Amino acid sequence: MKIKNFYDIVVVGGGPAGAMTALTAAQNGASVLILERDREIGIPVRCAEGISLKGLTKFFKPDDKWISNYIEGTKLYAPNGESCLMIASAIGKGVILERRLFDVHICKLAAQNGAEIFTKSDVYDLLKEDGKICGVKFKHFDEKKQVKTNLIIAADGAESRIGRLAGLNTTLQLSDIESSVQYLLSNIEIEQQYCHLYFGNDIAPGGYIWVFPKGENIANVGIGIRQDKCNGKNAKELLDEFVAKRFHDGKTISFFAGCVPTAKTLKKITADNIMLVGDAARQVNPITGGGLSNVLVAGKIAGEVAAEAVKKNDFSDKFLKKYHKIWMKEIGNQQKILYKLKELFFNFPDKKLNEIALLLNDIPKEKLTLFQLLKTAIIEKPVLVKELIKFYF
Ligand SMILES: Cc1cc2nc3c(=O)[nH]c(=O)nc-3n(C[C@H](O)[C@H](O)[C@H](O)COP(=O)(O)OP(=O)(O)OC[C@H]3O[C@@H](n4cnc5c(N)ncnc54)[C@H](O)[C@@H]3O)c2cc1C
Repeated sequence: MKIKNFYDIVVVGGGPAGAMTALTAAQNGASVLILERDREIGIPVRCAEGISLKGLTKFFKPDDKWISNYIEGTKLYAPNGESCLMIASAIGKGVILERRLFDVHICKLAAQNGAEIFTKSDVYDLLKEDGKICGVKFKHFDEKKQVKTNLIIAADGAESRIGRLAGLNTTLQLSDIESSVQYLLSNIEIEQQYCHLYFGNDIAPGGYIWVFPKGENIANVGIGIRQDKCNGKNAKELLDEFVAKRFHDGKTISFFAGCVPTAKTLKKITADNIMLVGDAARQVNPITGGGLSNVLVAGKIAGEVAAEAVKKNDFSDKFLKKYHKIWMKEIGNQQKILYKLKELFFNFPDKKLNEIALLLNDIPKEKLTLFQLLKTAIIEKPVLVKELIKFYF
């Protein structure tokens, strides 16, 4: 396979955001190249792999080839051990993906629609002519190459170097970074039909521990914490303490460390000839840290606007802003409210978290939704309750 000299669109990063953008743009007639730094699409997996069935089926027909488990509810655990179950009939079903196969699936669809994909291709700089972005420089294996394009999609994840190279401000505040580690643990006793979330300022300061079952006796067990709140302990130490208590017979199949940008969408996610998508644009849910369903939506919007730009031959920031505008309307504005709630929720003392669990257990199971949970947690803040109601209804 040979890389051509020019593509309408070059996507940097073959994660779900990049692949979804590429798929949509290719479906709409653009010539697209995906450049992925890693050797293989989907590997390594740095994700707990949970997504709501609703978020998934908006775009893809569920396939057991890349789904490892179906989820019927979520159990929340307060610091004192009190638990409360949110059932699927109230909050919707979920699935735990096999991301290494799911990411490949989206790329495969993009390829079937004409996109080209090159792995082992690390983009290290932008090509410019008279100050105008017109392509990328990348290392393919050890060979330096370059490719020209009218439009770059920076879908290069949380660390996004490409956005910075284009002069966009991608700075993350320390309080918006969740340091995370995760084990894939086997030999563990779990209720496989539920996701389990553990809260508490001692066990997971500024975040939570998750147990996302991938099947019988096997789960992604991870932690996300706020670096500025963790009193000297790191995420791995805290997770190891939890695992030693809860899953002492667990056997490690894999381990990784990563970070989740629990921020709001960047102020600027487009400039002339470039668009930022996915974690690079900070499009995750700031409370849960879940990004998958959001980045699929963002990728779809970005891909449509990118293809339109190709048709109109207009790659100006002014035109590309259309993507930002649609994104804010669909999810970005809700994300702002969730961000405010995150600030409040993850500052609650354990006593308050225990009280919330008690209150939630008084709500009939079929009525216990995410909205009810958030409302119960912020009931003393009428302004926020009002904003929340606006966003849910
Ligand atoms: C610990 C953890 C647990 C999570 N759990 C969940 C969960 O359960 N559910 C959920 O919805 N979300 C979860 N997330 C968030 C989710 O993984 C991300 O939101 C999602 O992967 C973002 O997709 P993306 O395509 O924007 O970025 P990524 O998936 O990070 O993909 C970016 C791609 O760009 C490539 N790349 C980077 N730089 C370059 C370069 N210079 N040149 C070429 N390629 C490059 C990378 O190799 C990578 O493949 C979790 C995140 C973490 C860290």
